[in-house]
Amino acid sequence: MHVILILLSLIFVGCTKASFYTYDWKEGDKTKITAQLAGFEFAPAEKNLSAREWVRLQPQIYQGLVVESAYKKEILATDGVLKRVRAGAVKPEIAFAHLDLASVAEQSSGIHRKLQSAFPLFRKRPPQSVTPVITQRGGFYEVIWQVDYMDLKGQMWTLKLNQNLEVRSIRPAGSQFIDTSAWVYPRGPLLGSVQEVPLKGLYLEPTLANHWVYVSSQAPDKIDKVAGPLKFSTQDHRFDQAQAFVYLNESFNWFQNRLGFKMPFQVQAEVFVGYPEKTNSAFYYQGKIRLGQGDGEFYQNIPRDPSIVVHESAHAVIDVLAKLPFEGEGGSLNEGFADYFTAMQLGSPRMGEASYKKAPFRRTVLNDLTVADRNGGLYHDSGIVSGTLWEISEQLGFKKGLDFSMAVLNRLVPGSDFADFGGTLKEVCAEGLSMEDARKVNGILSKRGWL
Ligand SMILES: [Zn+2]
Repeated sequence: MHVILILLSLIFVGCTKASFYTYDWKEGDKTKITAQLAGFEFAPAEKNLSAREWVRLQPQIYQGLVVESAYKKEILATDGVLKRVRAGAVKPEIAFAHLDLASVAEQSSGIHRKLQSAFPLFRKRPPQSVTPVITQRGGFYEVIWQVDYMDLKGQMWTLKLNQNLEVRSIRPAGSQFIDTSAWVYPRGPLLGSVQEVPLKGLYLEPTLANHWVYVSSQAPDKIDKVAGPLKFSTQDHRFDQAQAFVYLNESFNWFQNRLGFKMPFQVQAEVFVGYPEKTNSAFYYQGKIRLGQGDGEFYQNIPRDPSIVVHESAHAVIDVLAKLPFEGEGGSLNEGFADYFTAMQLGSPRMGEASYKKAPFRRTVLNDLTVADRNGGLYHDSGIVSGTLWEISEQLGFKKGLDFSMAVLNRLVPGSDFADFGGTLKEVCAEGLSMEDARKVNGILSKRGWL
């Protein structure tokens, strides 16, 4: 009996996150980090230009399969010189020992037949590709199937299935382009009335989308084909779908124009989530933004509030550059950066001003919070982060402040906490600023308790 228990506990320990290791290299001798990472394999990846640095985030691979959420991150100067390496990777010998990759390889030959019996749509039109991926769920690693297929209308989709062929997620990709216009609030309902704005490079169908954002709706009357101008009254559910699309599109444009950061994948958004129920949903998870309509008591017309929509788009950017978590201190960093980018983009420190009903606004990045004020509340503690970045940007000026904050985000990783954020603030301050600016920032960091 005892032997069995010990064996069982060994198996459980072996399969959990205990086999996830993090690594960090800043400067000097690269021998150690090179040796440490030698036991892992990472897939080749393009680098992204972000605030005048190159950022390359490579997924770990194991026996040819991508390991989701395991990474190597390199930061390079514009001349290509390596400045920083951070990695979080799974030691395959323990964590993946139980994965029967031989049987996955064996199943690969029969997977098309299984898909056809589970999904009738694949009987006439087989998927373009079916790829196994290693993913972590509840502490255990397993292999899922990533299926790319084209529907009857010629639209490409990516479907993720577990080993029992149950759907985990579905994602579209488009091809045809339309130029048209839409009636929306260009800067939100608090700043001006509805106007006609041009929309370029839209896909024809199956919903309102362009190359980097896709907005569907759970309301019965929705935009599913862009045939002409999107001119709907503010009473029409389709107005909110177009409004959310315009905010998201402008936000991703802003990240590209202001920070040189281009979203590497198409973000999906959905409005009227839970319809006909009026929900207060507003969140980003795994490439998807979900927005409710607002219950009318706490929030109303959520898709029309630029601060909420832009905040969710910022989560997508943060996810690509640092994959910060959504809980704990890392979650507060995530929320703090999302509020900060929103405030910088909209030129207002107030979050939720156009939709929150219980007060003039929900949160503000204009605050005096210090690290000592931490109380464990996700959004409360995010104010310490956003308040610090906002004050630094006020002191250094818009452009320098934004570049400084982006350089900090560039260096954060999925396991970052407040201590790591504090250390990174100091690091970027010491490396990337003039003496005069560094003095200003150090004053703020000291006052806010980061030093
Ligand atoms: Zn958020």
